[in-house]
Amino acid sequence: MSRSDNPFLPDFSHIYVETGAKSYALANQCLTRFPKAEVVEVPDYKSIFNRPGQDFQTQKKSVKLILAVKKPPFIYKSTDILQDGGFKNFYYNTPILNCLYNCDYCFLQGMYPSANVVVFVNQEDMQSAVEMEMDKRPYPDDPLMLSISYNTDLLTFENILPMTRTWIKYAKTQPDLHLEVRTKSALFSAIQDIEYTQQVLLAWTLSPDKVVKGNEYDTPPLDRRISALKSAMAKGWKVRLCFDSVLVYPGWKVDYLKFLDLIKSEIDGDRIFDVTVGVFRMGQDYFQHIRKSKPESNIYYQPYENKDGVVTIPQVERKSVEEFIRKNLDGFISQERIHFWI
Ligand code: SF4
Repeated sequence: MSRSDNPFLPDFSHIYVETGAKSYALANQCLTRFPKAEVVEVPDYKSIFNRPGQDFQTQKKSVKLILAVKKPPFIYKSTDILQDGGFKNFYYNTPILNCLYNCDYCFLQGMYPSANVVVFVNQEDMQSAVEMEMDKRPYPDDPLMLSISYNTDLLTFENILPMTRTWIKYAKTQPDLHLEVRTKSALFSAIQDIEYTQQVLLAWTLSPDKVVKGNEYDTPPLDRRISALKSAMAKGWKVRLCFDSVLVYPGWKVDYLKFLDLIKSEIDGDRIFDVTVGVFRMGQDYFQHIRKSKPESNIYYQPYENKDGVVTIPQVERKSVEEFIRKNLDGFISQERIHFWI
């Protein structure tokens, strides 16, 4: 059974609680949720999270939970690696660090010294920061688009900690705020009772089954993601499809053709908000770090080029991905609603 099939997990054996986090409602909610976990109080979460000598993949086998108080910054401007999908004021925040899934191509393995999950309990501070940033956003006629699921897959936690729900509820009080909730989970069921809002974009990352099985460990299969997004669309939610990362390997076009045919047969393209497409890309420092620790992964041993500090596939292959996707989505969705990172 994959983690995503079990609505009650994971079962954290240990919860580390920063002393300053103890009094927050979210911390108490978490501790109540896992009554059997051994609770260890720590003065600063970084003493656990940043400990030297940790092995990310070994920790993935038994992830621990850390409850901490986030210190500023509470909101970040979009980076070149992130896709803004056409939104001019594009930001992200980090309600949670790390993910319950374990994608082979994920930058988090290179970014953090630990695979343990950090939940920041002071969500209200993040919301105040969002309000301050909204007031000075560079394009005041456009909303502030906030990605709340950038360094994690937030919806995966919804049965444990209803944070996506909290953020959607909050967005409804802020007309100038839009949210992108990016996920590979099939957990739309956890938020299906919420009335949809045009301010929230539910973005599903989809990949061919071969990529799901071979590179997106612990994630739900493609058919369950499709069924989750169709339920969301049926309830009126704005849905974005993300093909990111499109992986290029011998025979990739055969797999992706079959995959796109399935998407076209299952989903009504006219009702999709847009499609974003990206290829493998990663900051060079993260890439080198992961490469050293993952000698068994093909992804880190291919011929790449360095595009201004970002490791990615060669330009000719990036172009080929764009042409292939554009051609095979022709008639499904208008070309201007397909956004590429290449
Ligand atoms: S779902 Fe996203 S954040 Fe989670 S492991 Fe995969 S790529 Fe990383």
